[in-house]
Amino acid sequence: MSKDRPNNIYDRHQNKRALAKKERAKARHFSGENSCEESHGTIVSWESINEIFERKSEVIGTVVEVRSSIFYVLYGEDIFRCKLDQKIPFQLGRSLVVGDKVYFEIEDNSGIIKSRLERENYISRIRRDNTRFSSYQKDEQVVATNIDVGVIVATTMNPAFHANLIDRYLIIMQNGGVNPLICLNKCDLTNERDSILNYYRNELGINVIEISATTGEGMLNLQDALRGRLTVLLGNSGVGKTSIINALNKDFQLKTKTVSAKHKEGRHTTTTTTLHTWQADSHIIDTPGTRSLEIDNIHKEELKFFFPEFEQYEADCKYNDCTHDHEPEDSCGVKKAVACGNINQGRYESYLRMLKDLV
Ligand code: GDP
Ligand code: ZN
Repeated sequence: MSKDRPNNIYDRHQNKRALAKKERAKARHFSGENSCEESHGTIVSWESINEIFERKSEVIGTVVEVRSSIFYVLYGEDIFRCKLDQKIPFQLGRSLVVGDKVYFEIEDNSGIIKSRLERENYISRIRRDNTRFSSYQKDEQVVATNIDVGVIVATTMNPAFHANLIDRYLIIMQNGGVNPLICLNKCDLTNERDSILNYYRNELGINVIEISATTGEGMLNLQDALRGRLTVLLGNSGVGKTSIINALNKDFQLKTKTVSAKHKEGRHTTTTTTLHTWQADSHIIDTPGTRSLEIDNIHKEELKFFFPEFEQYEADCKYNDCTHDHEPEDSCGVKKAVACGNINQGRYESYLRMLKDLV
């Protein structure tokens, strides 16, 4: 977990008290909910919890579902209903999400969670929170962790293709250190393919798999890419995430949505983040929590680093801190590369759109 991620949302508060709060909030925020503050002001972290317990003798399981204070933990092929050890502060325990690896003790068929292992990566969303002290209205909330592949599900039609959304999902994944894969679903509906898909494939080196969850076309390719891994499905409502989970394993009968004629979008039925095991050691997560596509946790000046294809042209930018936006074209290498077709126009437009959204 990177500790030096940009912190633009805190920069506005400069007086001393705000700074003290800011430091505490940062400790919480940038450790990805690795710690929490107790009422007397001390910070309790998973590391300090680890020191309290003899953790080596305990078994390590994976959180597959969270229901308020009950955690379902996968160990081998069994799922244990677990509670938190009393020594774990409530706030810290509440930060556990699907994918978290936990040390736990088995008692009959249930278990007690003793601590959490460090996270390898994560997918987060921005949560608006007006109940906390007024200056922090946005917070980064981790929704799934320790993910091997983040699958961005898109469609050419029903709903229409939006490269901009794919680019936002890519940034959310880069930010959390998750490997992306693009899955174009509903390929039975049309042979049309947006040309940017080849750009993702060839220029950005992202695996793009075309499938139809309905006809089964391409499903073997997808299964091969996801076998033995923990996968998270991302994508707007109606693109077929539930149908894909059902197609991975015919024993699954999760309820899909009917696409409403008016919005050409499915209605949303997934309400909790759940991990489904579709084959031995192969798990898939459908999470409603990633629907928010805000990227406010990224600093405006840092956004360009999330577009790796800009890098080789940045040497031609006259200014070191060039944003490739308002600078004149003859002094911006990226703009020149867009003009002559070396950088995809759509990707550049995604960049500008996101840049405008960031404060
Ligand atoms: P989710 O909101 O992403 O979980 O989407 P669903 O899985 O609920 O699917 C939304 C709608 O799209 C449902 O009516 C599905 O039957 C339909 N659908 C899903 N996959 C395909 C596909 O490959 N081809 C076609 N034609 N329809 C699909
Ligand atoms: Zn530039």
